[in-house]
Amino acid sequence: MKYMKVYINEIFTSIEGEGIYLGTKTLFIRFAGCPLKCFWCDTPYALSLSDGKEYEIEEAKKLIDKNIMTNTFKVNLTGGEPLLQYKAVYEIAKHLKSKGLTTYLESSCYDANRFDYILPWIDICKIEFKTNNSNAVRKENYEKLVNENLQCLEDALSNKKITYIKIVISNKDNPKDIKIILDKIFKRVDEEMIYGFVLQPAYGVEPSMKQMLEIYDEVYKYYRGVRIIPQIQKVMNIP
Ligand code: SF4
Repeated sequence: MKYMKVYINEIFTSIEGEGIYLGTKTLFIRFAGCPLKCFWCDTPYALSLSDGKEYEIEEAKKLIDKNIMTNTFKVNLTGGEPLLQYKAVYEIAKHLKSKGLTTYLESSCYDANRFDYILPWIDICKIEFKTNNSNAVRKENYEKLVNENLQCLEDALSNKKITYIKIVISNKDNPKDIKIILDKIFKRVDEEMIYGFVLQPAYGVEPSMKQMLEIYDEVYKYYRGVRIIPQIQKVMNIP
């Protein structure tokens, strides 16, 4: 473990701009690298491992410690896709927990085994489902991706983590695409088990108001607490 490497793109404190913890003071650790290919990706500068600076794991922990500010509500382990470097994320999440911090995993949940590996050190899970139109994976691999997402969702819930769902919606999406995901989710979990369901308009390729409301109405049939929440950091022009 001592000589494990980790590739980190950036570490900074800001206001959480997405999801159900919007507005909280958050330390972001952006891990480099992602195997997916969402066409609307908002972190194109962190998709390759080489977009990160290489650290030895103990060195990364010290750097993170130096960046922790008072009254930090949570530490957001994000990317890129944090599951790509899951062993390093495990070490860092465990370290954060030893300091009494709240850990939040922001992942596209593309691999349930990797997700389960990290899960013991995570307090809050954002489970992201991709629409088929996101182009996150090739069409023939889409069903497998959704199944991995579903497994991560079930595992987070059965381990009693604070868990919510997010789907990024673009101008290519429609209620039919979302319904396919919704049927699968709510066949496996009860509405009361999840802490929220966020539809996030993809920055720069937002759906029209008509599309957004139609998609909202579809989700509302399954989950009345659905919210459409844009990325506040984009609106405020902050990191
Ligand atoms: S999963 Fe996240 S980091 Fe990877 S391509 Fe999609 S939006 Fe970008």
